[in-house]
Amino acid sequence: MALIVHKYGGTSMGSTDRIKNVAKRVAKWHDAGYQIVVVPSAMSGETNRIIGLAKEIMADPDPRELDMIASTGEQVSVGLLAIALQALGKKAVSYAGWQVPIKTDSSYTKARIASIDDVKVSADLAEGKIVIITGFQGVDELGNITTLGRGGSDTSAVAIAAALKAQECLIYTDVDGVYTTDPRVVSEARKLNTVTFEEMLEMASLGSKVLQIRSVEFAGNYRMPTRVLSSLTDPLMPLAEEIVSGTLISFEEDTNMEQATITGIAFNRDEAKLTVFGVPDKPGIAYQILGPIADANIEVDMIIQNQSVDGKTDFTFTVPRGDYNKAMDVLNASVKEHIGAGNIIGDAKVSKVSVVGVGMRSHVGIASQMFRTLSDEGINIQMISTSEIKISVLIDEKYMELAVRALHKAFELEAA
Ligand code: ASP
Ligand code: MG
Repeated sequence: MALIVHKYGGTSMGSTDRIKNVAKRVAKWHDAGYQIVVVPSAMSGETNRIIGLAKEIMADPDPRELDMIASTGEQVSVGLLAIALQALGKKAVSYAGWQVPIKTDSSYTKARIASIDDVKVSADLAEGKIVIITGFQGVDELGNITTLGRGGSDTSAVAIAAALKAQECLIYTDVDGVYTTDPRVVSEARKLNTVTFEEMLEMASLGSKVLQIRSVEFAGNYRMPTRVLSSLTDPLMPLAEEIVSGTLISFEEDTNMEQATITGIAFNRDEAKLTVFGVPDKPGIAYQILGPIADANIEVDMIIQNQSVDGKTDFTFTVPRGDYNKAMDVLNASVKEHIGAGNIIGDAKVSKVSVVGVGMRSHVGIASQMFRTLSDEGINIQMISTSEIKISVLIDEKYMELAVRALHKAFELEAA
């Protein structure tokens, strides 16, 4: 019998009425002959509320204790859902992460899953039970409760689906799928029927926050077909319709459709750029500039080093806007003094816009089409970076939405 994993987000679990709707939907799938494991989030707002309690006592609480607290939201959800299913006459059993167990490392508040035991869950499924497992949490080797980082229930669900060799992992959420770009920026944005996991990785990391990025990595590593779909539809809608709704994150080889050149336009508004002028052009310089930035735990994204003139060059890189001041302080403290560079300047009002698509592998001229579109709009490109399936540009923040709209149109991504 095919096994399907369902994941329900906080909004979908937001009230007892919504939980009853989740139960109806799950029961419908079970009646259709599927084995079902459900992985819910905490009720919406709950994780924030309980973490907030800890922070009322102390600004920077012990991460072990924070996880002890944060993990409880999901424990309430699984119990309520089990009861709601039992009220519909289903056999249902709920488990906390440690009961499965879902073993993780000991990095509290950002733990990584090490293994998932399938023995207990498989036995329950074989007895016709619906199994409900807490998202977001696990247990380390010493028995401490851990959590996987905010939004971590997505990752729990995909990892559980992989461990149990499910046929598909369905992520029910408050949007009905993944779009060509953010519909709040481009009203003509179109829902994608399929997206490859590599494209999804680029779109998620670039700010299309439908799924926790780590869940997409899991889906890719374990080749777990994962579908994003709405939990706000009628829970009793025909299964045949629901099965093909939303957006399927699949694998390139599996999508035998004609590939569009570009799948989506991703963007990240909150970037900042720093430039060190007059850097001596000699071995070790990039390391000397970026080493202290990495030591300060700041993630660097785009990097440019110019061709040198008279043995001196300029070095520019981008960081998340929230880290801009810290990065500037680090540069002023370390770089200037130690490597004898000239001025350091920065701009904290820049944004990144990217065109993404596996179709890029087999089409030439995407970059020039992108640059022409931006040029037609009079938008200056400050930096460029590329990967096999993505071209990103850094531009002034005030042109970001214009750029996204123009590119969306130029690559004909709008709804038909
Ligand atoms: N409840 C956790 C959070 O709010 C995990 C999740 O919802 O995915 O971050
Ligand atoms: Mg979420």
